[in-house]
Amino acid sequence: MRLSGIFLSTTLLAGLAVAGAQSDFDPNQNVWSLTNGWVRASFQLTPDGYFLTQQIADLQSGDQWAAAANRPTSPVRLQTDHAIFDANTQFMLVAQYAQSIAPGGIRQFIVLQDLKGRAQITVIFEMYDKQPVLRYSLKYKNLTSTTNHVTWINMVPWTFADLGQRYTAFRVNQWSVATKVQDFQPLQSLLDTGGTSVEVYSGADGQQCGWMALRDGNQRGLFAGWEFDGRTKTTVKQDGAKGYVQFSSTVLNLNHPVDPFNEFQTPNAFLGLFHGDWDEAGFRTQRFAESILAKPAPDSSTFPYVSWDSWAYGQQLSEQLLRRNADAAAAIGVQLFIVDLGWARGIGDWYADPAKFPNGLGAVSDYVHSLGMKFGLHFALAEADPSSPVLQANPDWTATDSSSYFNASPLCLSNKPTQDWLVQEAIRMIDEYHVDWILQDGQNMVKQCTKTTHTHDPADSNYANAVEGINAVVAAIQQARPNVYWENCENGGNMMTFNMVKSYVTSITNDASGALPSRSAVYGATFPFPPRYAERYMPQSDGFTPYATHSYRFGGPWVLMSQLADLPNSQIAFLKDQVQNYKNQRTDISGGKVFHILAPGANATDVIQSYNAASDTAIAVVTRAASSGPTYLFRPQGLNPAQRYTVWFEISPSVYSQSGAQLMANGFRVMLPTPYSSEVVHIEPQH
Ligand SMILES: [Zn+2]
Repeated sequence: MRLSGIFLSTTLLAGLAVAGAQSDFDPNQNVWSLTNGWVRASFQLTPDGYFLTQQIADLQSGDQWAAAANRPTSPVRLQTDHAIFDANTQFMLVAQYAQSIAPGGIRQFIVLQDLKGRAQITVIFEMYDKQPVLRYSLKYKNLTSTTNHVTWINMVPWTFADLGQRYTAFRVNQWSVATKVQDFQPLQSLLDTGGTSVEVYSGADGQQCGWMALRDGNQRGLFAGWEFDGRTKTTVKQDGAKGYVQFSSTVLNLNHPVDPFNEFQTPNAFLGLFHGDWDEAGFRTQRFAESILAKPAPDSSTFPYVSWDSWAYGQQLSEQLLRRNADAAAAIGVQLFIVDLGWARGIGDWYADPAKFPNGLGAVSDYVHSLGMKFGLHFALAEADPSSPVLQANPDWTATDSSSYFNASPLCLSNKPTQDWLVQEAIRMIDEYHVDWILQDGQNMVKQCTKTTHTHDPADSNYANAVEGINAVVAAIQQARPNVYWENCENGGNMMTFNMVKSYVTSITNDASGALPSRSAVYGATFPFPPRYAERYMPQSDGFTPYATHSYRFGGPWVLMSQLADLPNSQIAFLKDQVQNYKNQRTDISGGKVFHILAPGANATDVIQSYNAASDTAIAVVTRAASSGPTYLFRPQGLNPAQRYTVWFEISPSVYSQSGAQLMANGFRVMLPTPYSSEVVHIEPQH
């Protein structure tokens, strides 16, 4: 007994220590089991030919998510205009194989053929080392002799036994074009057991971020994300009588044509496990996004950037004005100098305005480079003014979308001739103006277009204008000019998806709307997204106080939208100091876990904190809006209980020395003497 006990523990330890992702296939049972020592997911092709989910388990917490009795569930859920392929479809196994994938993981292919010979469905699973996440997609191959349309897919095809528990769903709003209190608001909803759905409408022009989390009263949790920029509807519901919780996520208005013997691959999606609160769900999502999905930052030691953007001057730009601002920007430590809307002859006419730039925009760019900064340029690639040469020559290139951007018309990016023109224009623009960074702006990147004269299917607008539109255009430009980095600036943060993170190094979450909306945006966006995807634009109207600059301390790139060249020396000196403070701790925040302590509100005190395990440091921004409290008792989270820390403040001269356990249990007072005051708290280990 004793010997076997020792043997067992050694095996378990070895299993955890290896922790490399692997996929095992049992050919007798037709069972696939993917594991990385952290999670294990198993699936079976049953003797009757049904391809079903068995279970997904968290090997660290012991949490299990198993298929519900009497409710078979399958990763396969796809519909064409003639057939449904799901848990009730019989398949035979054609092939199965696995391959290693970067940056350390396994991809398992399971090739199934429908017994009626209509389709070949390939299930693709990915599992990565150290990530408690299963990523997946399906390929549909049309085996019939006529063109079929894929009309419905389920990107979150999971139904699990509810174990008699109650569940809370969690989602986060996107930005809306007109600034609202609800922008990036986190929403918690207790599921009723009668089957009422909690819904997420995501993608470009949608209402929520493309992510959802769910947990029961025992902290057993799941999170799901889908890698698609068009509009989707995702739901979760509980049927207590039948004993299950069920997710669903579909691409709206899908009608994708698939010719005989051609294939269609669904967007990737992922399902992750967590044990704990929403901060833990967010942290695991963020680590997965940073390790596997996201476009790597230009330089992780100097990013997120401090940027300057010309919008403080509107479209009244000139070479002299930009040169003067470049001098001031370089002096305060700005790294990226962005010329916003107004530099071109017109929207869609992407040549520098010769009246504003008699020496060419390249001369401004060269000057910016000579000061040691990167040069960024505004590019509203999906818009063109009706008077622009491109629309004069090709009036049919517009989308049927009714949106308007500074009087420009929407372009259909999934029309091949439009796309070819746009890619060439972007490459020329990058080369001619020596561009390092593109501020991609515009109104709704996934336009509606039902034109029959375009190269896409007129009834497949949403999918076509996402995958074969904006995604294809950006991918082609990035492939041609890989050293140019892009920021997503759709409508102030309105395409917050896990596909967006693959092409862009950051995303706007607040469009120069001021200090409080900026903090609200970061508070919400940093549940699903890594902090660097919470970029903020700071308008001059915020003023030059610690309350203003502290409101932009936590998150992604900090973009100054002020008339720098015209500021007095005292304000320049203040900004220089604040910029340095921002730079000193940005990498700790980027690599840390976000703790959402108190949500911002007009009459509230708000607190957001980061703990970075690698440096064992924490930072918190504590801000008092119009609330009455002159102090706030702050209990930091996530510290190492046994470690002794020094606590210091950027404004108050107080210094504390306590153990992590003491700090977390008892907290300490943060001084907020007047309305609209703030403090930045630093917690550092003593050695
Ligand atoms: Zn079109």
